[in-house]
Amino acid sequence: MPIAFDNTYARLPERFFARTAPAVVPAPQLIRLNHALADQLGLSSDWLASPEGIAMLAGNAMPPGAEPLAQAYAGHQFGNFVPQLGDGRAILLGEVVGRDGARRDIQLKGAGRTPFSRGGDGKAALGPVLREYIVSEAMTALGVPSTRALAAVSTGETVQRETPLPGAVFTRVAASHIRVGTFQYFAVREDVDALRELVDTVISRLYPEAAEADLPTVKLLQMIIGAQADLIASWLHLGFIHGVMNTDNMAVSGETIDYGPCAFMDTFHPECVFSAIDRRGRYAWGNQPAIGQWNLTCLAEALLPLIHENEDTAKVWAESALAQFSDRFHDRFHAGFCAKLGLPDEDGGDDGVAFIGATLAKLKEQEIDFTLFFRQLTRVAAGDSPDELIALFKETATAKAWLDDWRRVAEPETKLAGMRAANPILIPRNHRVEEAIRQAQTGDYAPFNRLVDALAAPFEERPEYADLEKAPLPEERVTQTFC
Ligand code: AMP
Ligand code: MG
Ligand code: MG
Repeated sequence: MPIAFDNTYARLPERFFARTAPAVVPAPQLIRLNHALADQLGLSSDWLASPEGIAMLAGNAMPPGAEPLAQAYAGHQFGNFVPQLGDGRAILLGEVVGRDGARRDIQLKGAGRTPFSRGGDGKAALGPVLREYIVSEAMTALGVPSTRALAAVSTGETVQRETPLPGAVFTRVAASHIRVGTFQYFAVREDVDALRELVDTVISRLYPEAAEADLPTVKLLQMIIGAQADLIASWLHLGFIHGVMNTDNMAVSGETIDYGPCAFMDTFHPECVFSAIDRRGRYAWGNQPAIGQWNLTCLAEALLPLIHENEDTAKVWAESALAQFSDRFHDRFHAGFCAKLGLPDEDGGDDGVAFIGATLAKLKEQEIDFTLFFRQLTRVAAGDSPDELIALFKETATAKAWLDDWRRVAEPETKLAGMRAANPILIPRNHRVEEAIRQAQTGDYAPFNRLVDALAAPFEERPEYADLEKAPLPEERVTQTFC
C-alpha cells in the first residue's frame, strides 16, 4: 500500500460528511512536492512523484485506503450565519499517522464539485493554489501553527473566474480540518448527540488533556480559546492579515487555515486590509483579536448544551472561559513585541506595554515598513550603524528621538538572540507572491520555487535572497488581494 491511511472521520456518523469522489482532470503535472513534509508523514516522495502518486494528488485515482469525503460545516460569513456551507471545493482523502506519531488529514483542494458546492465549480485556479503553498509553508517556517502544503499540481484544465485561468489542485495537510463552523452545524440542528461525538473526537485527537478534567467540554473550550489567542498574537507580530476570519475558517486545532486573500503588510497601519471582499475592514490587522473572540463566542454558544444541562449555569462557565481570551492574547502580544524590540520584561511590564504602544504609533505615523523596521533594529542591536533604520522614518529627528527612547528601555546586549528569533528577514511579500503567480501563469515556475526555497529559512542571513527583503516600489505595491 503506497499510503497507510488510518481514517477516523469516515467512521463518524454519516451526517458528519458526504462521501464523494474527486473529479478527473485531463493532464495533471506536478508543480512542487514537499519532500520534507512527505517524510514527516511517513510517505514516499518517490511514490508521490510517480504517475500513480500524481494521479492521486490530482484526484484522478484513489489509492487503496482512501475514503474521499466532504466535511459538513456551517459558519458566520462576515457576521451572517449560513447553516450549511461544507467542503464545496475540498475533499478529505483520509488520515495518516506520521513518524512523529501525530495524526493528520490529507485533503485535496480544488478537486471538483461535492454535495456542498452550491453554485460553485469545486475547482481551484493556479494563483490561489500557489499563494496557499507559499504562505502556509512560510507561516510554518516563521513558527506559526498552520496547515501545510504537501503538493501542488496543474490540471491541464481551464477554470472560469472573471477570466479563464489555468486550474490546479492543492494537497493540504492539517492536524484537523474541524472548524468552529463544524460545531455550529450541529448546534443549529439541535443535534446534541452529534455535538457530543464531535467534542469526543476533538478531545481525543487534539486536546487529550481535556479528557482528564472534571468538566471536559469546558476544558476543551478553554484550550481552544488559548490556542486561538496565541495564534492571533503571532499573526500580529508578523504583520499578517488573514483576510477572511469567518467561523468556518477558524480551525479548532489552532492552525492558521484557509489562505484566501491573506497578506502580510508592508507599511504598518493597524487598519490595514487587503481583501477585496472586506469592504468595511472587519478583518483588518488590528481587529483580528476582537474577531477571534467573537468567533470563539460562537463556539461557546454551540457547546452550551454539553457544558451543563442548566443553560444559565452553562453560560456562566462559557463566559468565564471566554473572559480568559483577552488576558491570554495581551500577554502573548506583549511578550512577542518585547522580544521583537529587545525589551527586558517578557511579560510586558507597564513600561514595556507603553513603549510597544508608542512604537506602533510611530510606525503608523512615519509610514514605516513593518518587517524592515524590526529587521534593521535587530542590526542596530547587533552593533551596526543605525543609518538604515533611521532612513525608514519620514523624519530623521523623530527617528533619533525614538532611538534614544529605545536605548533607554531596551537591553540589546542580552536580548539579541531573542530579537533575531522574533524578527524575520523574509516574509512572503505580496508583490513577490503576485510576481510568482504571474510568471507561473506563463509556465515559468522559477520565481515560485525560488520564493518557497527562500522562505523555508526566513530568519537566516542569505545574501542570495537579499532582493526578497525589499519593500515594494510604489509601482510594485499590491493594495488588494482576491480569494
Ligand atoms: P472560503 O471562502 O474558502 O472560506 O469558502 C466558503 C465556502 O464556499 C465553503 O463552503 C467553500 O467550500 C465554498 N466554496 C468556495 N469556492 C468554491 C468553489 N469554487 N466551488 C464550490 N464551493 C466553493
Ligand atoms: Mg453523509
Ligand atoms: Mg473556507
